[in-house]
Amino acid sequence: MTHPHHDIPPLSLNTATVREQWNLAQMIEACARHGIPGISPWRDKLAELGAGQAAAMIRAHGLTVTGLCRGGMFPAATPEGRRAAIEDNLRAIDDAATIGARCLVLVCGGLPTGSRDLAGARNMVRDGIAAILGHARAAGVPLAIEPLHPMYAADRCCVNTLAQALDLCDEIDSEGSLQATADGPAALGVAVDAYHVWWDPLLDESLARAGASRLLAYHICDWLTETRDLLLDRGMLGDGVIDLHALGQRVRRAGYVGFDEVEILSRHWWSVDADTVLTTIRERHPMCVSGA
Ligand code: ZN
Repeated sequence: MTHPHHDIPPLSLNTATVREQWNLAQMIEACARHGIPGISPWRDKLAELGAGQAAAMIRAHGLTVTGLCRGGMFPAATPEGRRAAIEDNLRAIDDAATIGARCLVLVCGGLPTGSRDLAGARNMVRDGIAAILGHARAAGVPLAIEPLHPMYAADRCCVNTLAQALDLCDEIDSEGSLQATADGPAALGVAVDAYHVWWDPLLDESLARAGASRLLAYHICDWLTETRDLLLDRGMLGDGVIDLHALGQRVRRAGYVGFDEVEILSRHWWSVDADTVLTTIRERHPMCVSGA
């Protein structure tokens, strides 16, 4: 008989999970109240509260900021559009530094309006990340490329597998580590989201290739077999078909040592009382990650 709660990783709340119910101040207080030690804000909520005030509140409640969501969205039809995206990402890096985020998550962007040039969009992503990496390194904020499921290639993210994200890391970030002497995070790595990668037959090879230094974040939710909305019907832990227990073990075996960040974009869960959502997550998380 094993102790099912023995090696449960710390939990973090990605604020998208309760974004329709609460503002960031309410989310910070709720994490502390529910015993959730990590938080990962989205920038719209952060802007409402202000990065400085958010940083003070997060510190006062003793929370770890496991990421800031999100930068990216690099492709654009015009040079001005691409320049504006880069400027926006530089501001996001500064906000991530202000709140002490462990990484800035990059949802890289899809095809520019009217374009069918997928390869061109991918080049714009590469060039955009290359343009902001120096600022990220100077600010001490690792950039985490989040590969998204290929169903989002047109409108959200043309980086669609972990292997593709790691190819970008290797191409853009030849220096590797964030600080010259640290054996901590790389300046450029990946955010692994169960929802986006669970199906990938090459996942273990890619996880091993990423290793501890490039594995910057791990997002969890579940895949509902009868998904009713491509974006906003993600499942509560345990309600779908992802073996989160096995997946968590695979991610950690590859060297990941961070939080389990729960990110559930779901019209259903947005219609539920937010305290009930967090209570459900707290109940489900040990069951799902321990395999009990
Ligand atoms: Zn995610």
